[in-house]
Amino acid sequence: MNNKFVYAPGPTDVRENVRLERAKVTTNPDVDEEFVEFYKCTCEKIGKIINTNNSIYILSGEGILGLEAACASITESGDRVLVIDNGIYGRGFKDFVEMYGGEAIYFSGNYDNEINVDELSRFLEKDHNFKYATIVHCDTPTGVLNDLSKICVLLNTYGVLTVVDSVSAMGGEEIRVDDWKIDIALGGSQKAFSAPTGLTFVSVSEKAKKAMENRKSPVRGFYCNLNIWKNYYKDKWFPYTIPISDVMGLDRAVQNILDEGVENVLSRHEKIADATRNAINEYGLELFLDGGYSNTVTALKVPENIGALKLKDHMLKKYNTLIITSLEPYNDIILRIGHMGENARLEKITYALNVIDNGLKDLGFKSDKELVTLFNKYLKD
Ligand SMILES: *Cc1c(COP(=O)(O)O)cnc(C)c1O
Repeated sequence: MNNKFVYAPGPTDVRENVRLERAKVTTNPDVDEEFVEFYKCTCEKIGKIINTNNSIYILSGEGILGLEAACASITESGDRVLVIDNGIYGRGFKDFVEMYGGEAIYFSGNYDNEINVDELSRFLEKDHNFKYATIVHCDTPTGVLNDLSKICVLLNTYGVLTVVDSVSAMGGEEIRVDDWKIDIALGGSQKAFSAPTGLTFVSVSEKAKKAMENRKSPVRGFYCNLNIWKNYYKDKWFPYTIPISDVMGLDRAVQNILDEGVENVLSRHEKIADATRNAINEYGLELFLDGGYSNTVTALKVPENIGALKLKDHMLKKYNTLIITSLEPYNDIILRIGHMGENARLEKITYALNVIDNGLKDLGFKSDKELVTLFNKYLKD
């Protein structure tokens, strides 16, 4: 199961020092107060990467838990919630909003471009009576990146709280939680942070905390209730046994980012994404998006006569390489290059591009160019 080359927009490659960290002897995370300090320190390091002084909690469960917990904790029956939708994850927030009794109202954009901020602004002039809005930073099935620096600031001027799914962006794309007024920012261990799957982290602003505390009705459920984390540090108490090895691995992965330097990590992503997009265009393929390109994942259109699913199967069979397509309705249209986290390394992206190049040509695609040669041509120093 483990000998294939896997190159997906999450879970991403996990560096050896992170894997080894999880093998270390642990203490008892329920009763050893040193672990509370360790946990808090990991949270603060994540805060540095996402530029916030807000409280951060690491929850035991992968990214979806964070999304549901945010909606569960602030939604009350009848609350109007603006669901900003230009992708599959964006659209999906409606389910969580409604599950907890909210009324979801869509603001939808085209799925091949970023949210148009002027249009959103005009929409909000007419209707801004929302308790909160949800938005996805990078909608991974298409790789579209939304400009949170404008969108969240705009929503904030109307007093609308913001819940941001940055699971597949943070760690690979800049996110300035405090400057951009993001009330709840959600991340996951297995994407650009390149730690194993299993943890989600949530930053919560003072305003969002107030909204959760001043609810008229209690939060339904326990596991998704963010209020239970409020006093963990003061009380030296966790709501449940924290998967300590997972947190130790995450801490190592976070430290890897800080050791390399957040700026350097972001520019590594940018250079690789930029060269990948340019190479694809000149090679004769089309990108799925018209704009709003994320530096963490690139979606390319596989020629119709080949089909993305056939290409994926062929690459796995002939090259022992798993490069994945997208979700419905794009699963036979899009191939996704997940150059995020530890995948955003030259030796890995060039290997992946070579396999894609060979796979396409095996299946009849005609180009007198080579993807990796083009990638190298466009790669900036
Ligand atoms: C990966 C991802 C999540 C978490 O979902 P998984 O079930 O771990 O795939 C949430 N939001 C986005 C945008 C993601 O890319």
